[in-house]
Amino acid sequence: MKKLTRIAKHAACALGWMAYLGLGFACPGVSAQSGAQAVPTPASVLGHTPGDDFYLASYDEAIGYFHKLAESSNRIKMFTVGKTTRGVAMELAVISSPENLAQLDKYKDISRQLTQARGLDDAAARSLAQQGKVVVHIDGGMHSDEVAGGQHSIALAYRLVSAQNDPEVDAILNNVILVLWPTLNPDGQNEVVAWYRKNLGTKFEASELPDLYQEYVGHDNNRDGYMNNMLESQQITRAELEWNPEVFYCQHQTAPFPTRIFIPPFVEPISSNIDPILARWLNLFGVNMAAYLDEHQMPGAVNRVGFDNWYPGFQDFTGIFRNSISFFTETALYAYATPHFYTVEDFPKDYQPLTAQVFYSSPWQGGWWRLKDAVDYMVGASMSVLDLSAKNRTELLYNKYQAGRDNIERFQKNPPYAYVIPREQRDLPTAAKLVQTMMTNGIEINEAAKPFAANGKTYPSGSWVILMDQPYAGLVKELFEVQIYPELRQSPNGPPIKPYDVSGWTLPMQMGVDVDGVLQPVPAEQRANLRTLTQFTMPDGTVQGAGPVYLVSHQANSSFRALNGILAAGVQASFATKAAEGGVEPGTIVVTGPTRERIGEIAGNNSLAVHSAAKAPADLVATKKPRVGLYRPWTPSIDEGWTRWILEQYGFAPVTLRNGDIQAAHLLERFDAIILPDSRQSNILNGFGPGTLPGEYVGGIGRAGVEALREFVQGGGTLIAFNNASIFAIDQLGLPVTNVLAGLKDDEFYCVGSLLRVEIPDASRPGAWGMPRDPVVMLERGPAFAPKANFRGAVIADYPEDVNPLASGYLLHPEKLEGKAAEMEVGYGEGRVYLFGFRPQWRGQSQGTYKLIFNAIYDSPNVAKPTTFPKPPTPPAVPAAAKPEGGEKTKADQKPAKPEDPDDDPRLER
Ligand SMILES: [Zn+2]
Repeated sequence: MKKLTRIAKHAACALGWMAYLGLGFACPGVSAQSGAQAVPTPASVLGHTPGDDFYLASYDEAIGYFHKLAESSNRIKMFTVGKTTRGVAMELAVISSPENLAQLDKYKDISRQLTQARGLDDAAARSLAQQGKVVVHIDGGMHSDEVAGGQHSIALAYRLVSAQNDPEVDAILNNVILVLWPTLNPDGQNEVVAWYRKNLGTKFEASELPDLYQEYVGHDNNRDGYMNNMLESQQITRAELEWNPEVFYCQHQTAPFPTRIFIPPFVEPISSNIDPILARWLNLFGVNMAAYLDEHQMPGAVNRVGFDNWYPGFQDFTGIFRNSISFFTETALYAYATPHFYTVEDFPKDYQPLTAQVFYSSPWQGGWWRLKDAVDYMVGASMSVLDLSAKNRTELLYNKYQAGRDNIERFQKNPPYAYVIPREQRDLPTAAKLVQTMMTNGIEINEAAKPFAANGKTYPSGSWVILMDQPYAGLVKELFEVQIYPELRQSPNGPPIKPYDVSGWTLPMQMGVDVDGVLQPVPAEQRANLRTLTQFTMPDGTVQGAGPVYLVSHQANSSFRALNGILAAGVQASFATKAAEGGVEPGTIVVTGPTRERIGEIAGNNSLAVHSAAKAPADLVATKKPRVGLYRPWTPSIDEGWTRWILEQYGFAPVTLRNGDIQAAHLLERFDAIILPDSRQSNILNGFGPGTLPGEYVGGIGRAGVEALREFVQGGGTLIAFNNASIFAIDQLGLPVTNVLAGLKDDEFYCVGSLLRVEIPDASRPGAWGMPRDPVVMLERGPAFAPKANFRGAVIADYPEDVNPLASGYLLHPEKLEGKAAEMEVGYGEGRVYLFGFRPQWRGQSQGTYKLIFNAIYDSPNVAKPTTFPKPPTPPAVPAAAKPEGGEKTKADQKPAKPEDPDDDPRLER
């Protein structure tokens, strides 16, 4: 209760707010500071005030303004942190008092010492907390069509830098070091603003951007928090580890209508790996923010609806496992900078009486909603965070130390005491990537200089060991342990309360890496044999044996990068089709021609152990570099972006196929394999509806596209369909396959983002080469398959009979999956269709199933002909594209195209 009494009363700052809100209060000297030149207003530089109707500042323009601010004032310094995916410099501003800015290194060091919580006792930590300043991260958001965030950063910077005789701002500048990112996605802000300007004043003014506003992952840029696959995520995480913010606050839009801003506390459930004090602080920041907004005549804030924080990969939440109080808010949005008028009749029925609720005590009454309103709410919300931080400086600093200290103590007394990542792995380079991922997250990693004994085993030297008595150990446990999503139901026997995102993500399972938890304390003599890594390096490659034939295992993902490089250079390569002596397995890559030096280089670049032999195995099939087409709809497809990114990483060089490219037919002349990323069937067929966007972006592949794909497969091409695109392939090509999950209600079957164990019935099939017997797959709102009569093909992966396949997360009614197929290869004419019912490349995390994609691409009849199906007497019957079989498709077709979410969830915009 002590803390709660600190919820602020802000009467003293009303004058500053009147000035900011433009209420006619003219403060003498508001634009000039002693010792510095005049502080420019945003309007004087940009020609507009952020929040003006129909105006948005681009990132480049915003940065221009920030530089002008920095030239005019000693309250702000600019720093460049790195490049975006599209090559733009990512910058942040640090705002504080001139005295604090003059001693930034000292304050960063205090924050670092408190965060690490080592070499300090409580008294020393108290003393440091008294000397230190609270570091607060605030940003302009990362979802670039949530446009107010990037405008708010300009307004917030101006308010803090220009304020005079404002006790609230003075207290903030004296006690807080604000790390202000104009936006976390510069590329997207530039792109969205250009799109809006192009359409402004036309009937497409509010139209959706027909592109991913982060080059590869669009909206999923807030799902990359712990993987840091994208450059932007890496910059954000690196800066967080450098500045060690006590508070991390990210701006989003949009609030659940008609509320004006969603604010924490979040809804259940919560991870047990979060420090309890920080979880309390998070709630306090939220409740304080709502009170602050009400106090400043900004009604309509709501807490505790819709958004949970179960998934730790939200970029604006991962930091809480590094003991930074991390959260986001969602401010209302109409469309871009276009204003909109709402009446109470527009509200959902429940909200029309305007009744006060516990966490919605100032219901919004309707009226105009302008960009300026959203900007004001965001500036208010940010000010409340800064104000509360300033008032609780010492406690926040000390509590961060306390969280690190308690984590260290917790894992000195409780298991797991450590995790071991052995060097003996099916896919060592991927295991090394797991280690690298943890290091990027600020986790301390050791390498065993001598054999390491634990769990009654001896791990060879070189094994990686994560000792858990470290300040961010909660993040390791969160990512390595099995998730048990709680049984939350809407009513005792009713459907489950859905997680906002996925329910399970256990990273070693997803990556197919063996990791052992250590259940006994690690004795001092074992610790003495560990060396802490200061820098990560991938394992060396090796070439062993003698002879002109080189054998590369099919088990490592990076073997495909090597293979693609070898084939692109014109060197001959084959796959072994049968096991043979010398460790040859079905799928072993056999290379002849290059010099040993060249092979050594390739092995080194891909961390591969290559074996050389005197002669090649007898059973071989020659291959060539597959030509891969990747369908890219105008409705921005996050799955397409992730797929493109992964294929590029592994050297597949996919070619983008737009609707017209598919409709142009003759696909077999250009491609061996074509991938349809996860999408609703209606989306692939129809795309954006007529009149919703300029004509060139409207429509899907339509009937002509279906016919072109049919011709491609019948002629010998390989079509690969991910997740719900499988339904499209089944219906439109008339494949003899049923989706056994079709039509099931949430209380009949439920699995949204869980890890399930499947089995590979026949590892000698090319589609399954290199896979372990029982890999783990990510099932996220996808189908499961059963063959119909006349089925010609093979099951690549299935859910075992009489076994609950749940490995991590949540699964209701597992019996619906038992004995059903998770991935199938279906013969069709001369070609084949690979149907994936799961997410084989989910967010760049499910690396344990990448090979299933790579295999499907290489198993194109034009590339390698290792297996054929017995041919049926006639090709399967094909319904017309306009009249597909299956009720599901008809239903889906009646719905408008909706790009992101293959489910029907009215998902909010986090
Ligand atoms: Zn968002």
